[in-house]
Amino acid sequence: MKIAVIGVGYVGLVQGTVLADFGLNVCCMDQNKEKIDLLKRGAVPIYEPGLQELCEKNVKAGRLRFSTDIKQTIEEAEVVFIAVGTPPQNDGSVDLSYVEGVASSIGSYMNSYKVIVNKSTVPVGTGQKVKKIIREKLASRKVEFDFDIVSNPEFLREGKAIHDCLIPDRVVIGTETEKAKEIMQKVYNVLYINQTPFVFTDIETAELIKYSANTFLAVKISFINEMALLAEKVGANVQEIARAMGMDGRISPKFLHAGPGFGGSCFPKDTTALIHLGKESGCEMMMVKAAVKANEKQKKMMVKKIIDRMPDLQEKTIGILGLSFKPETDDVREAPSQEIIRGLVKEGAFIKAFCPEGISNSKKVLADIEKQITYCEDSYEVCKNADAVVIVTEWHAFRGMDLLKMKELMKGRFLFDLRNIHVKDHDVRNLFDYIPIGRT
Ligand code: NAD
Repeated sequence: MKIAVIGVGYVGLVQGTVLADFGLNVCCMDQNKEKIDLLKRGAVPIYEPGLQELCEKNVKAGRLRFSTDIKQTIEEAEVVFIAVGTPPQNDGSVDLSYVEGVASSIGSYMNSYKVIVNKSTVPVGTGQKVKKIIREKLASRKVEFDFDIVSNPEFLREGKAIHDCLIPDRVVIGTETEKAKEIMQKVYNVLYINQTPFVFTDIETAELIKYSANTFLAVKISFINEMALLAEKVGANVQEIARAMGMDGRISPKFLHAGPGFGGSCFPKDTTALIHLGKESGCEMMMVKAAVKANEKQKKMMVKKIIDRMPDLQEKTIGILGLSFKPETDDVREAPSQEIIRGLVKEGAFIKAFCPEGISNSKKVLADIEKQITYCEDSYEVCKNADAVVIVTEWHAFRGMDLLKMKELMKGRFLFDLRNIHVKDHDVRNLFDYIPIGRT
């Protein structure tokens, strides 16, 4: 079966590669020539563990190729996946221009029956919008081709994306026809015969499932973060609270780790998109609004936590460990590190920062304050002459740091551990003024 994946980002590239690994013939297409040139040369434009190797394997096997030619890609495919970005607009609504642009190209170049699969996270009604755009294009060409629209939202986690596509918890498929359902079963045949749970539903429900899942997780994070703030006030331990809560099968221990607030390319935009969808539909999303508000507060509270201990940050050097929004990715979109760095710089601090994979992207989003930031070669260089060090993202490399060496390199004594990764180190409280989150 010939598959086209339009949009070679964190989702499209991983999904396209995994589908090739399932034995399908996949063409990954992107309008970004730089990305496609890199891929054609055998390099992968994003950091995602295991992706480089899986790409190489499938290119070598002749099942995976890359293109910037949307016409040829669409003409040759039986199934076209749309995996382009759906960024937020200022009012919280979703910018659908990339999805609409692809729909328009599909209508312009369609030459036979095709299944159009929406993998991008999109508000309810987008499937129907895509259908309308394609129909209008076909009408303007005065041609008639049958096609089906499918909603197949993606649940992969960056950093674990290959695993999540190879062994997903579930596959959600929203269709309108039996024919499209059967074709999608064939596309995911490897998963289907491996007993992966499939949820077949209508397009609108599939579209809303994705927002419900992401928003629920965001609510869970905001809840435990709020508990962490309360625990600090009343002298309780949020980690013990989360552990005991998580032992309840109805709650589960996942997504109960207090931290500096959620970020990334999904939770922030998907929560605001759901709020916007609710508003448009006359249904106020009060829980989601509260989660977003709590998250904004959480990031500000991290800066306050530092200022409370270090009231005068003028001329002070603060070391930041971790820039990506979570470990094992180079994605810094909406990462809490940015708000923390901006908050500290505003108070006059100078920043030294290190992240195993997030430096290059951070340089772009923090370009306006680049004079106040030095990006370091490694985590120990961050500590050199720092008045304080702040652990923002829980990369494994930071867990194993030599605390004595850190202390000897630092000028000051403050270690803010916003992920509680060193709470169990015996020496940490002797060596530093150690400030974890949600506990002492
Ligand atoms: P991304 O920004 O990394 O990649 C999108 C790609 O689409 C870019 O390479 C861009 O050049 C390309 N593109 C845009 N318009 C195009 C066009 N007309 N033709 C060809 N290519 C075009 O985005 P992403 O993180 O992969 O996310 C894609 C979608 O998947 C979003 O809707 C997102 O919400 C959703 N999603 C993301 C994740 C995640 O962890 N990143 C997880 C689940 C779902």
